[in-house]
Amino acid sequence: MRVLISVDMEGIAGVTGHEDVWPGSVPYGRFRRLMTDEANAAVAGAFSGGATSVVVNDSHDGMRNILYEELDPRAELISGYDKALCMVEGVSDAQAAVFIGYHAMAGTARAVLDHTISGAQTHNWYLNGIRVGEAQLNAALCGYFKVPVVAVSGDDKLAAQVQSSLPGTRSIVVKESLHREAARSLPRGEVLSLITSEVTEAVRNYRKIAPIAAVRPATIRVEFSRSGFADLAALLPDARRIDDRTLEVSGASIVEAWRLADVMLRLCGSGS
Ligand SMILES: [Zn+2]
Repeated sequence: MRVLISVDMEGIAGVTGHEDVWPGSVPYGRFRRLMTDEANAAVAGAFSGGATSVVVNDSHDGMRNILYEELDPRAELISGYDKALCMVEGVSDAQAAVFIGYHAMAGTARAVLDHTISGAQTHNWYLNGIRVGEAQLNAALCGYFKVPVVAVSGDDKLAAQVQSSLPGTRSIVVKESLHREAARSLPRGEVLSLITSEVTEAVRNYRKIAPIAAVRPATIRVEFSRSGFADLAALLPDARRIDDRTLEVSGASIVEAWRLADVMLRLCGSGS
């Protein structure tokens, strides 16, 4: 069986600030290595839980963070941008998904680098009326392909949101967030062994976890951070304006709705 491991960066143990995850900053080189280490811990867990192949999808920023030469040589790597399914590219032929280094949704108190999809451009996201973060949106995309998300790692605030929104998904807490840019991380050895052991159990029991039921039709509502972004996103004929900063798109499935939301983000990419 094939396992997809989607790896973001804000929820990696030790990461506490914007500079840590921004390519080009001085600290970034250290943290992309820690990100690769947590990916490797998850790859090891997936194989010991019964996976016969593992694909790792780099899911942060420009999606060129994981060090291929330091990745477990048994794993395939999807890196770079752009990708139709973005953070869960590769899920269509997987049987289980694992999210590593994820973070709490936009607007979460005392959560390291909380945001949803684009911290600069958007605040709250809603899927069929329910506020969602990246873990929930991506789990719904996985659900379209009938793939369960078996484990999610990150801080304690993310874990609370996963527990209330993704029943059956295992939460792996690698740090306690104290503030948007402060956290108390577990000892590093403990982080890596915890990820491996939890992912092993999660993958071993993947059949017991139900995928998120396919969302049909799907409506995604995006609250932009500024009206200028919403003005540009509204150039998409399918977008409905809800208020000055909020737009909505609908599709027959979550995949269609996601593509329209993605187009809105691209339209406002250079706006202000
Ligand atoms: Zn990220």
